[in-house]
Amino acid sequence: MKSKLIVANWKTNPLSEKEAVRLAQAEDNENAIICPPFIFLSAVKKNLKHAQLGAQDVFWEKSGPYTGEISTDMLKNSGVKFVIVGHSKRRTLGETDEIVSKKASACLKSGLVPIVCVGERERDNGHTYLNFIKQQLKSSLVGVPRALAGKVVVAYEPVWAIGRKAARAATSEECGEMVIFIRKILSDIFSVQSAARARILYGGSVEPQNVNAYLTAGADGLLVGHDSLDPKKFGEILKVAQSM
Ligand code: PEP
Repeated sequence: MKSKLIVANWKTNPLSEKEAVRLAQAEDNENAIICPPFIFLSAVKKNLKHAQLGAQDVFWEKSGPYTGEISTDMLKNSGVKFVIVGHSKRRTLGETDEIVSKKASACLKSGLVPIVCVGERERDNGHTYLNFIKQQLKSSLVGVPRALAGKVVVAYEPVWAIGRKAARAATSEECGEMVIFIRKILSDIFSVQSAARARILYGGSVEPQNVNAYLTAGADGLLVGHDSLDPKKFGEILKVAQSM
């Protein structure tokens, strides 16, 4: 059985290296993937004994004249294993499916695991969000080599469920339905075998109380935003995941 991946997306937090190290030490667990801001990656890495290190973004070229960008090989050389790509906040800032697909492919070619985020902005009774997710996922994975497709992690993050101000989290039924739907799309794009190997996570207002429901509904793990900044709550999330 695949072990559950519990990803801590710290976003633009905390404000100092000292706090980042303290948070990392409190969340160091074999099922955790800690994704701090770039500037804290190496300090966090030095303080992790069990958790794996993730980044929140990446640039697709290895090196060159790209002011402000951080490349796949730089991340790899800093001990990073996973990279979140196409998070909804980055898409809001202009990141297109084409850019996401370049990032995902570059990660795989460098031996990094991309966590490709997809999610609709709103739900409608006509279910047009299903078509939206299908197109977004397909375009975000264009160029991903077939042989590496099984390594992809897809995070289903409905935008309406993300953040402290979200009206609600997804229900376990909504999560379960999307995990099946996304696996079917992966199987259509790549192969049944790759789709079975790929891990599909749920993200959006994950908290200790709903972890069991999402993992029981079929998610292979969770992408945790605001509750990953609270070591007590993140610890409870890990505890529930490990008990399953
Ligand atoms: C996220 O932004 O990836 C996320 C899941 O956030 P939150 O848990 O705060 O909804």
